[in-house]
Amino acid sequence: MHYFTPKRCASVNKIMYHDKAQALRAADQSLRERGTELWVYRCEYCGSWHLTHRNPDDAYRHVPLNQERKPHSRKKGYKPRRR
Ligand SMILES: [Zn+2]
Repeated sequence: MHYFTPKRCASVNKIMYHDKAQALRAADQSLRERGTELWVYRCEYCGSWHLTHRNPDDAYRHVPLNQERKPHSRKKGYKPRRR
């Protein structure tokens, strides 16, 4: 049986994930088990992936998008419903 023993990044002292998929899975697990929403980002020091409490996308929202292009794709009659 495989057991994932987390290594920690020396620079930020966070658990290192080998790839993004692995980090995303851990974030997903955290959300379901603890209700803690986490985001993944790539560490510039160690090159692996870490989890963070802050949404990195927030930073991008301040950047004005001059032209946000949305593809005009219409799926005929299909609307996914969420309640
Ligand atoms: Zn790191």
